[in-house]
Amino acid sequence: MPDSGYSLDSMKGRRPRVCVVGSFVIDLVFKVNHRPGPGETMLADDFGMFLGGKGFNQAVGAGRLGADVCIVGRVGRDPFGDMFIAKLQQDGICLSGVTRDAEAGTAIATPVVDENGQNSIIAAPRANMRVTPDDVLAAEEQIAAADVLMLQFEIPLAASRIAAEIARRHETLVLLDPAPVRHGTDGESRNQNPETRIQNCMPEHSTTRPLDHFYIDYLVPNEIEAHMLTGRMTPEEAGAALLPETRHGVVISLGAQGAMAVDRAALSRFPAHKVRVVDTTGAGDAFRAGLAVKIAEGASLGEAVRFSNACGALACTIMGAEPSMPMLDAVERFLAPSGWG
Ligand code: ADP
Repeated sequence: MPDSGYSLDSMKGRRPRVCVVGSFVIDLVFKVNHRPGPGETMLADDFGMFLGGKGFNQAVGAGRLGADVCIVGRVGRDPFGDMFIAKLQQDGICLSGVTRDAEAGTAIATPVVDENGQNSIIAAPRANMRVTPDDVLAAEEQIAAADVLMLQFEIPLAASRIAAEIARRHETLVLLDPAPVRHGTDGESRNQNPETRIQNCMPEHSTTRPLDHFYIDYLVPNEIEAHMLTGRMTPEEAGAALLPETRHGVVISLGAQGAMAVDRAALSRFPAHKVRVVDTTGAGDAFRAGLAVKIAEGASLGEAVRFSNACGALACTIMGAEPSMPMLDAVERFLAPSGWG
């Protein structure tokens, strides 16, 4: 058997397999008392450097929850790229699908966070925007061998679409996190009817709707993205409008309100767990990783959301994104009757 990059457990009782085709971003975070105005040079109160990107976070998240994980994407031939490679190796994630781009550096974002927690971000997507359909085709074996393929909108849409097509051909379930959904022009969008607003949710400003030509088994937006994709005000309405875009179901993450899931059988709300919130960064990625792993194991949508709600809650109790992705035993303890969930 050709090497797909996953461990060679016997089929029976084997670990769930997740393939992520997605992004790597280095976050350079500045803490300031106010955000700088035009022409202002200011000193930051604090600074931190973190490995992130939705693709990377979700891959690490799925790995810590017990899945065998492969990731496909691009980093630069720079020290940031080296850091990602080292971290993937440390977490036991298969990186044969990671290309070191000779021309573009690793993606960088610089969030500037003020005392009220408000932030402004400059992002340079660099190597992420150079993931090609050929990169994805080269990873066909990893996608085919996976139970679930996880996609987000931080790499070119054409690459994600090809990945979804390959997955469908091989009966790998596709879980799409439609983030970030970029809006057209803010001022204009307010006066547009829902149909036009959907048209304007255009990653990389393409002229088609982001969900067009996408094979999606599970769509997992947050509340704002669900609203932007449909123009509908409530998660229930948005979920119902998005369901026909999927083959199996829609899960909308609702932050401190938990989550909502809808499939052809039922629509249910799942309240959030009460935890001491330290930092919600990464909660969405932990939530989606939990969902993917449970779906890969063959759990029902309800079971999967119950589990991923716990993953999201636990991620809120630790600072940062990647460091807050919970381990499987922590989630199990949290959900156990005697646990703190
Ligand atoms: P995103 O980052 O994608 O917007 P959300 O903010 O919706 O993600 O959060 C993802 C999940 O994390 C939620 O569905 C929930 O399970 C959990 N979560 C987020 N914020 C809280 C919170 N304050 N308390 C408990 N759980 C939370």
